Amino acid sequence: MSFASHVECTVCRHHHDPKRVLSVCERCGQMLAVRYDLERVKASVTKDALRSRPPGMYRFRELTPLAADEEPVTLGEGGTPLFSLPRLAADLGLRHVWGKDEGQNPTGSFKARGLGMAITRARTLGARGFIIPSAGNAGGAAAVYAARCGLPCAVIVPRGTPPAAMAEAAIAGATVFTVEGSIATAGKVVAKAAPQLGWLDLSTLKEPYRLEGKKTMGLELAEQLGWTMPDVLLYPTGGGTGLVGIPKGYEELRAMGWVSGSLPRFVAVQAEHCAPIVKAFHEGAETPAPWENPTTHAAGLRVPSPFAGRQMLKILRDTRGDAVAVSEEAIREAQRRLARLEGVWTSPEGAALVAALDTLRQRGALGADARVVLVLTGAGIKYDPPPLPPPVDLTGSDDVVVATVVRALAAR
Ligand SMILES: *Cc1c(COP(=O)(O)O)cnc(C)c1O
Repeated sequence: MSFASHVECTVCRHHHDPKRVLSVCERCGQMLAVRYDLERVKASVTKDALRSRPPGMYRFRELTPLAADEEPVTLGEGGTPLFSLPRLAADLGLRHVWGKDEGQNPTGSFKARGLGMAITRARTLGARGFIIPSAGNAGGAAAVYAARCGLPCAVIVPRGTPPAAMAEAAIAGATVFTVEGSIATAGKVVAKAAPQLGWLDLSTLKEPYRLEGKKTMGLELAEQLGWTMPDVLLYPTGGGTGLVGIPKGYEELRAMGWVSGSLPRFVAVQAEHCAPIVKAFHEGAETPAPWENPTTHAAGLRVPSPFAGRQMLKILRDTRGDAVAVSEEAIREAQRRLARLEGVWTSPEGAALVAALDTLRQRGALGADARVVLVLTGAGIKYDPPPLPPPVDLTGSDDVVVATVVRALAAR
């Protein structure tokens, strides 16, 4: 038995049987979410008891949908560090900025949390294979966890997806397809192919368990900040699993009395040429309109019509949050800035948050004392680097070589 009480639709509240492989609400087609018997969780685990448990997302076992004897399909997801970024903060005129380095997950991105959890549950419930539309990292993670439990996996990505993510899927034995267009095009193919294959469609938030994996970021953040919540949390927004998942984690902890006060202001950050949530937020729309011709090198942000748009917009508004779009050049510059100031080579998606923080400061939208968390979703090394100075090549006699080194460094 798990501590989950039921799975319900986030819109019409219809209940679904958690013993079946689920996708979206069978009544209205909207996103499903797992609900817990939080009184029972509270009676079964204490903050103190957590101290003796190993790090990682299954540390919060009672707040996952796993049954008591259910073995996770795992490579050690979660338990990523939250470190302060004092030099970046000072550069921005802020005092408290933290980065949660999700690039330290297996597969180099936080997609490991969601796909690890989704595939664990699906395997238990009898899934026979997986197919997933992806901008890169989700496909890589799905392939890795499918391999780990010996089930077949297929990944459909847009042409031009970062090669490391495609290689990660292929080397784990998945079949990789590329399509012209975006993840939306890939999603349409998956929706039709999955039922014909009898495989589970792992599209973002079209099954309820990926969210539970992403939610563990919120649980970890609460514990890492001494059971408090930050004032502001910036999230690089594609399909929005973390933007929906992190507040879900906070709400559950709040209902248990483990954290108190209001949720952080959530800020969705997108790329200026694919910003459906930013646009809808500022227009006051309840759901985003599909973005035409989405382009950005931050692959995970290239999601023109997110399925959970309505849920994301509600969170931004309920928490008096914000939504910011940043340029491609600002993302590249921010990526270099964070690495130069703090030694963290984050993915372009994570770097977009640094650029957005700059924008928010310039607009006067953020006080110097705000406690700010950046969710640095992936490792920079999985992507082409931004333009950098080339290495200085050393040739000639020993003396010439040494002189070149000294001259170059003296000029710094
Ligand atoms: C998928 C992804 C995102 C976007 O996450 P969503 O939960 O889909 O909004 C951001 N950054 C990276 C590195 C990703 O892989």
